[in-house]
Amino acid sequence: MHIKSKLPSVGTTIFTIMSALANECKALNLSQGFPNYPSSQRLNDLVTNAMNNGYNQYAPMAGNLDLRFAISNKYQLLYNSTYHPEKEITVTAGATQGIYTIVSAFIRPKDEVIIFKPAYDCYQPAIELNGGKTIAIQLSAPDYKVDWNEVASHISSKTKMIIINSPHNPSGTIWSKNDMLQLQNLTRGTNIIVLSDEVYEHIIFDNEQHQSVCLFEDLKQRSFITASFGKTFHNTGWKVGYCCAPEHLMVEFRKAHQFNVFSVNHPMQKGIADYMQDSGTYLDLNTFFQQKRDLLLSLISESRFKFKPSKGTYFQVLDYSDITDEHDVDFAKRLTKDYQLASIPLSVFNEKDKDDNVLRFCFAKTDETLIKASEILCRI
Ligand code: PMP
Ligand code: GLN
Repeated sequence: MHIKSKLPSVGTTIFTIMSALANECKALNLSQGFPNYPSSQRLNDLVTNAMNNGYNQYAPMAGNLDLRFAISNKYQLLYNSTYHPEKEITVTAGATQGIYTIVSAFIRPKDEVIIFKPAYDCYQPAIELNGGKTIAIQLSAPDYKVDWNEVASHISSKTKMIIINSPHNPSGTIWSKNDMLQLQNLTRGTNIIVLSDEVYEHIIFDNEQHQSVCLFEDLKQRSFITASFGKTFHNTGWKVGYCCAPEHLMVEFRKAHQFNVFSVNHPMQKGIADYMQDSGTYLDLNTFFQQKRDLLLSLISESRFKFKPSKGTYFQVLDYSDITDEHDVDFAKRLTKDYQLASIPLSVFNEKDKDDNVLRFCFAKTDETLIKASEILCRI
């Protein structure tokens, strides 16, 4: 039997590779993005209560209604933006499923989708599995700034979607209000859909404001927001997220969603809905993670790594060009094997594996782990 792969150049994700190597080498794992401290006991108890109170059968296709109301209230509170809980919000099995379903609901063979590199790894395979063509715009370290004239030069009648991500994984940069206005101007009057991956919306530092697409009325009308409770509530293994969009887009999303997953596990949704009644559960994240970022950076200030402090996400990029000119994948593997510290090389998210000699370290870790990691970084 001869199988012609639909994704011939895709192998195992770097997150799986680096986490497996970290386990094998008994290394501190600052590679794959997940916390090494527990999910809140109160949230765990609320999920248990939901199971004990009968939330064990299919949730409504679009998600538990209490959760959709809680999400809708959050957008009203934070952005003064209205998403109708019944028509404009759908709960998904993590952001990954939301992203895949958005792409599959709208992208036809040969449609062009613009993405910015370095790009989170699930965008391109979703486009290609649906026959679309990825138009990648490579951004440059260390600032990863967008040249909007370059973006304009790639937009044509073939452009069906633009995928954006701020705060940005893996670089830890954020888009400004001006970036969003530029995007709004470029897409005004077109049929381009914007997929705004906002999974790190609550992890933004130094008093910066998250520039959600919902703050820009014209942009909002053509946009999906995708979000992940795994990132917000420290439980990436639960795989619960959601997406929001105006009704005319959400109708099409749900046509695909109902045959893709139908609905997402019910007790987690109910537990999260109850937990979100207290807005502190998500609003306190900035302070929590800024302390972790600052702890790590203060401890490695004398090391040979160079850095610009992360502006958002729970990742910090470190430039090792003063230490070695090794390829970043080789250096990341050597650090894991020889120094027992795992990270993620950025080249895997770039066009043609562009190597800027930078590695990504996840600081969603206990202070003890961050102190141990910084001791290693100072020895290198
Ligand atoms: N987008 C980005 C930028 C991410 O970092 C992640 C990983 N959390 C996802 C999407 C996927 O989120 P989830 O784990 O909820 O599927
Ligand atoms: N989002 C996580 C990260 O960037 C990884 C998720 C995964 O392993 N697919 O590290």
